[in-house]
Amino acid sequence: MDPLSLLRGVLDTAEDAARALIGRERLRLAVTGLSRAGKTVFLTSLVANLIAAGRGARTLPALSDAAGGRIRRVFVVPADTETVPRFDPEAHLAALAADPPRWPERTEDFSTLSIAVDVERRTSLGGILPERRVTLDLIDYPGEWLLDLPLLGTGFAEWSAATLARLRRGRRAEAAAAFLDFLDALPPDAPAEDALAKRGYGLYRDALRACRDTHGLRLLQPGRFLNPGPRGEAPLLWFFPLPETARGGLAALCARRYAAYLDDQRTTFLDPFFSRFHRQVVLVDVLGALHAGQEAFEDTADALAAIAGVISGANLIERLLGAAPTRVAFAATKADHVPTRARDALAALLEHLALGARGRAEASGAATAFHALAAIRCTEDAVATLEGRAFPAVRGILLNEGKGATIYPGEVPMKPPEPAFWDAAFFQMPEFRPPRLDPAGGSGVPHLGMDGLLAWLLGDAL
Ligand code: GDP
Repeated sequence: MDPLSLLRGVLDTAEDAARALIGRERLRLAVTGLSRAGKTVFLTSLVANLIAAGRGARTLPALSDAAGGRIRRVFVVPADTETVPRFDPEAHLAALAADPPRWPERTEDFSTLSIAVDVERRTSLGGILPERRVTLDLIDYPGEWLLDLPLLGTGFAEWSAATLARLRRGRRAEAAAAFLDFLDALPPDAPAEDALAKRGYGLYRDALRACRDTHGLRLLQPGRFLNPGPRGEAPLLWFFPLPETARGGLAALCARRYAAYLDDQRTTFLDPFFSRFHRQVVLVDVLGALHAGQEAFEDTADALAAIAGVISGANLIERLLGAAPTRVAFAATKADHVPTRARDALAALLEHLALGARGRAEASGAATAFHALAAIRCTEDAVATLEGRAFPAVRGILLNEGKGATIYPGEVPMKPPEPAFWDAAFFQMPEFRPPRLDPAGGSGVPHLGMDGLLAWLLGDAL
C-alpha cells in the first residue's frame, strides 16, 4: 500500500475513534446497482422505513432487534458534501403517496443523503447516558461506473480489441450495426478531427444504450457513456474503441482521451468517494436478467463478476486506492415478483453468480452476504392455474391497467441454468403498482427482507 493511502487510512480510523468517544459516529454506506436494478426504490424505502422506525413503528424488525430496540429518532440532516447532488426523498415519497401511487423517478447520477440515527445508551448498571448519534451517509452511484474499475489496469489497445470482439457477436452486433458500419468505413489513417471523434462517440454510445435498453445487456464500458453524471457529456468522452489497424491521428486522439477519461474517473469519483465507503450494497435485478434470456443473463453474470471482483476483492482496490468497504451485501431486487418459496433460490442464484468474487472478498477481509429482497412489496402469494395444474404465483395490481392480476413468474433456478432451461418461452414481467404510502408517512412502506439486509450491514454500528 502506498504511504499516502496508508496515512489516509490511519487518519480515517483516528477520526472514527474520536467521533465514537464523543458519541458522534459516521458511517458511509454506498448503494449501487446496474441501471433499473432498483436503487432509487431501495433508497426511498430505506429512508421511509428508518424514519418510521425512529417514530416507534416496527417496520424494520430485524434491524431494531439488532440495535437492541434502542433506536430513538431518525431524521434527514444536511449532507456533508455540497458538490454532489442530493438524493430527494421528499419527491420520491410524494410519488408513492399520490393517488394512484407512482414509482419514484429514477436517479441516473451520483447523489447523497445523510440520515441521523439517535440511539439510546445505557451504562452496564442500566443508568441512562446521553444518546449516541450515528450519521449514515448514503451514497448512491451508478453501477455502470464500477465497470470502469477493471479498465484502470487495461490499455486502450487491449480494451479496444476485447470490446470490438464482443461487439461483433450476438445481439451486440445487431445493436451496434451503425457504429460497426462507421468503423468499417473509417480509413486507418483517419485524422484527429473532433467532429469525427464526436460522431464515433455518439454512435458507440447509442450502441451501448441499445445493448442495455433493448437487449438487457450489462457488461458495457465505459460507464459514463451510459451515465454521464452531473458534469454531462464533456468532450473528454469523445472517444471509442478502434481496431488495431487504426494508426492515424484519430487513433492517437482516442487513446489519449481514454487515458484522460480514466484519470478523471479516478480523481473525481474513485479517490474522493469510492475509497472511503465503510459498507456497500450492490443491487442486481437477477429476475429481470433471467427473463431477458440466455445472452442477457450471461452478460449480467459477467458484469456482476467484474463488479464484484473489484468491489469486494479488495486486491485491486487496495492497490489502486488504499481502502475498501469492510462489509459488502449483494441483493437480488424485486423478490416480490416471485412467490415466497422461490426467494431462497433467488438469493442462492445471486450467490452463484458472484461466487468467484466471494472467494476473493473473504481473502481480503471484507465480509460478503447474499440476499433477496423487495424494497417495496407489491404482491401477495397466490396460485395460478395453467392447463389444469396449480403453480405458486404472485398477485398484484398491474401498473398500467390498474387492475389485479395473478402472474406465474416461471421457475427460479438455484444456480446458473442448464442450456435446456432457455428453451422455455420467456416473457416480460409486468410492472406492478406500488402500494400507496400513508401521506403522513408514519408507517413506512411494506417490503421484503430490507430489515435482514440492514441488520447484517449496519446492526453492529447501532
Ligand atoms: P434504478 O434505475 O436502479 O434507480 O431503478 P428504480 O429504483 O427506479 O427501479 C426501477 C423499476 O423497478 C421501478 O420503477 C419499479 O417498476 C421496479 N421496482 C424496483 N423495486 C421494486 C420492488 O421492490 N418491487 C417491485 N415489484 N418492483 C420494483
